[in-house]
Amino acid sequence: ILMSKVKNMEIRRHKTREVPIGNRKIGGDNPILIQSMTNTDTRDVQATVRQIKDLEAAGCDIVRVAVPDMEAARAIANIKKQISIPLVADIHFNYELALEAVKGGVDKLRINPGNIGDKEKVRLVVEAAREADISIRIGVNAGSLEKELLEKYGRPTPEAMVESAEKHIAYLEELNFNNIVVSMKASDVRFTIDACTLFSQKYDYPVHLGITEAGVLRTSAVKSGIGIGYMLLSGIGDTIRVSITGNPVDEIYVARDILKSIGLYQSGEGMVEVVSCPTCGRTEIDLIGIAEEMNRRLVHVKKDLKVAVMGCVVNGPGEGKEADIGIAGGKGKGVLFKKGEIFKTVAEDEIIDALMEEIERM
Ligand code: SF4
Repeated sequence: ILMSKVKNMEIRRHKTREVPIGNRKIGGDNPILIQSMTNTDTRDVQATVRQIKDLEAAGCDIVRVAVPDMEAARAIANIKKQISIPLVADIHFNYELALEAVKGGVDKLRINPGNIGDKEKVRLVVEAAREADISIRIGVNAGSLEKELLEKYGRPTPEAMVESAEKHIAYLEELNFNNIVVSMKASDVRFTIDACTLFSQKYDYPVHLGITEAGVLRTSAVKSGIGIGYMLLSGIGDTIRVSITGNPVDEIYVARDILKSIGLYQSGEGMVEVVSCPTCGRTEIDLIGIAEEMNRRLVHVKKDLKVAVMGCVVNGPGEGKEADIGIAGGKGKGVLFKKGEIFKTVAEDEIIDALMEEIERM
């Protein structure tokens, strides 16, 4: 049982087996790991490493790169040397790319064994993965289900997705390989929830959660927040990926916010949560500008603090009393408060610096 910081809520986490991923582990009682995928050309090692470092700085635990050809597979070794978070190679069909990625030191393969074609080729990939002590993620997507399953079920259904996962799992289990992670993704939130729930009732393999093709930042934040959040609160999920059409670094921020908002953010490094009021007719300072700037400055501060940015002194300190520190705006000025108690008044243009100074001291 993992205690959530959400009041009175216990999350009974579905018990999964632990699988290795570089210097981390997925599943069991391990923290829910945040992952993302680069959108650079993997063959461009420099650009890919640069993006991975940005992702890492934002709080990414695991990063995946697409491996569409042999040149990309060969780039893995070079990328791996320059980064410190676990690396996953995303491969479709081609077992030789998988073998090359393993040789390059990758920490996990995302490949569906049933799509490799020939059992001997699957065996070669599995033996390489076993030898290197790495995991394999089976990724089932509603949009790319096997023809025979679509014929059997008439359309993509959660049951068809579980059956697809079963088929791929059987390939690995036959070879006595159990370092398996499974994802069941659809762009429909309820569909994804049903598929993951059904899967978790049958298996104890760790689950990689995500809503696929979730759209641009705003749409994805909502869909992922509901889908991933709901599953995590139900105890399902060991690693999460928020999928956004845009900068992958935003995927990390949204993922962190999802975990933080339900009390499941377990990074040892801490994270500042900024709460801010929606503003109203009582607001007499540029609160939106201040809130945006505080979010920007605090995103890399690794402290477990709640910071409130409130529009007025009438309601601000009271409503922000759960916060460790905060400001409430007045006419051309702001008051600073800790746990709802006012301790300082500053001019509007000094609010951000004064707040940052206090936070640095905390
Ligand atoms: Fe309005 Fe004050 Fe509430 Fe902000 S804190 S919404 S300014 S009443």
